[in-house]
Amino acid sequence: MADTQRSAAAEEPPVQGAAALSLSLGVLSGVGPARVASLARMGLETIGDLLLLVPDRLESNGEPLSIAEARAAADQVVRIRGQVTRVSLVRRGGRSTFTARVEDSTGWIDARWFSQPWMRERLRQGDEVELAGTVLRKREITLHAPRLAGKDGELGPAGSWRPVYPRGEGLGPERVRSLAREAAARYAASLEEPLPSDLLARADLPTLAQAARDLPDAADPETFVRARRRVLLEAFLRMQARLQDRARHPARGRARVIEVDDLVETRLRGLFPFEFTAGQHAVARELRIDLARAAPMRRLLQGDVGSGKTALGLYAALLANERGAQAAFLAPTELLAEQHFAGAQALLERAGRRSALLVGSLSAADRRRVLAGLAFGDIDLVFGTHALFSRDVRYVRLGLAVIDEQQRFGVAQRGRLLEKGADVHALLMTATPIPRTLALTLYGDLDTSILRERPPGRGPVKTRWLRREDGPRVPELLRERLEAGERVFWVAPRIGEGESENEDAAPDGDDAQSAASAERAHARLLGTELARFGVELVHGRLDPLERARRLDRFRRGQANVLVATTVIEVGVDVPEATVLVVEGAEKLGLAQLHQLRGRVGRSARPSWCLLYGAPQAAERLKLLEQSADGFEIAEHDLAQRGMGELAGLRQSGTAGNDPRADVDLVLFARDVVREHPQLAAHYLTSPSSRPGLGVP
Ligand code: ADP
Ligand code: MG
Repeated sequence: MADTQRSAAAEEPPVQGAAALSLSLGVLSGVGPARVASLARMGLETIGDLLLLVPDRLESNGEPLSIAEARAAADQVVRIRGQVTRVSLVRRGGRSTFTARVEDSTGWIDARWFSQPWMRERLRQGDEVELAGTVLRKREITLHAPRLAGKDGELGPAGSWRPVYPRGEGLGPERVRSLAREAAARYAASLEEPLPSDLLARADLPTLAQAARDLPDAADPETFVRARRRVLLEAFLRMQARLQDRARHPARGRARVIEVDDLVETRLRGLFPFEFTAGQHAVARELRIDLARAAPMRRLLQGDVGSGKTALGLYAALLANERGAQAAFLAPTELLAEQHFAGAQALLERAGRRSALLVGSLSAADRRRVLAGLAFGDIDLVFGTHALFSRDVRYVRLGLAVIDEQQRFGVAQRGRLLEKGADVHALLMTATPIPRTLALTLYGDLDTSILRERPPGRGPVKTRWLRREDGPRVPELLRERLEAGERVFWVAPRIGEGESENEDAAPDGDDAQSAASAERAHARLLGTELARFGVELVHGRLDPLERARRLDRFRRGQANVLVATTVIEVGVDVPEATVLVVEGAEKLGLAQLHQLRGRVGRSARPSWCLLYGAPQAAERLKLLEQSADGFEIAEHDLAQRGMGELAGLRQSGTAGNDPRADVDLVLFARDVVREHPQLAAHYLTSPSSRPGLGVP
């Protein structure tokens, strides 16, 4: 038995065709139970999942340059050879910086790695090395966390490209990539192509099988972008088929009817520590009406940051619980899921409801406990990330899914979710308003609620794009606010690369570069007089428990300055925070900056949003100074960024991850489904291979 398996793996895979797509990833070499589990936590369970996994981005392997040339190539990915002439490892409060000076006949450059103390073992004085990485030009010129030839795999031919895959626990991006490559080599032929070849040719797209082969080894941005688009198109076709089917056949009644009388409703309202605003009141009424129908609710709640959407999500959950249905509350990051969970405890206690937190980082035992609670109905309300819709999660009577910050889940992911939860009421919430035309195409099957006003008694937020003359005023303002007992967010976004807003990437995606820049800002602030107010640091690379602990210290005021990556972009709610400082604001999009600004202005006190940003972003930064209206900002954002993003990203060494460029693909999918009834039927009936809400 073992023998036949081994020889089969070496020669021809024994399983082909559709059956191969549902094989466990355990069939791949070197993938044992631990890896299977960690892949499952990334949402990857079958060969089909892995074949259609889209890398986060394509990165340049760099052009070989002399060190003198490299020093002049700020923000580019370069490749240098030279000798290590000195190394140093500096540790400071649990964080470390490793620097290696590399020299050739033309000069020297410092290569720097943050929080990777093991680099000391890998690079020694006297070593001849070849490195590829991004040149950063700040106060000094450095090579940021470069890869090492021979140690990080080969650097690839000069001028070549490398797809960067998401990482999992104990699985680096290169390991995930090699698994994807192996899966493609052995099983890509099993991917059937539903689209006729003339259609593919018209759209200039490869077949699904070809796309699966191209993704792990794309040799150039064109190939990568085409492969990525083919895979995304598959999800969009499925979504459009469902959407158009729904438009033709008005909602069928399969969801739980959740009806509560006025008395119960009044009691539930009374559990909240505040009166609903008029806007919240109106949305609450809509929710109550939707839930009382057998047709599954599909409601999109658009409300500007700070307008109080969470309360409405919880309100809907309480209604569901009241009628014995379970509710799942989804957030795009663990940080936010934890906050919602913690923030809802008092309310749920008053309501007598049992809740749990289900995130990827739970221990196996805790996870089992939560799964059992959901399966047996001991848990009424579960908070979590996309881990809530892995295949092994079963709900005994799920009635409602609340999807917070839904824009962060990506069109494809959200489509899969709604597809799997066909008989579950769904409330999608977003602080990024969607222009109406786009909304109709993307969410034609959603009803929309809009929450415009904010809770009463909120102080104004003054936004300022910092000019040179503001320099000395900033520390002064910070000191003054901190002495008044208020708190400060200090955001340092990723450095070195273009904007990264890949919606389909791991939602918690916060890469090493972001972490490094936040660590640097943290170290810098510790050297200023702000240190005495307590300066804490959070980023996506921290162990979740540690991150929660640090955020909690900030929440309690044990540390009054929080340095962070954009991991705090969504949802984090600390009313005492009145100042938000953003470094490198030019790296961030309008919508993202507006979201970040929503971290302040959450109490009656006046707040400040201070932006450090390069002149190239002048238009965006000025608009933020002038407008506090998320709807206005969203329209501008779309108009401004359009779809020309790809070229910009390519210049800085990455390509292929602009969600806006996918809009035309959605439109194409809409037309294909309209014009080809047989394809529409195919996408409606063939099961998606991706995991979704585990509804029994
Ligand atoms: P968002 O819409 O950005 O998700 P939140 O739900 O986080 O906003 O709400 C922002 C803050 O406003 C929270 O601290 C919340 O407790 C508070 N809040 C929500 N509704 C009301 C209300 N009706 N009155 C007073 N405070 C409220
Ligand atoms: Mg929110």
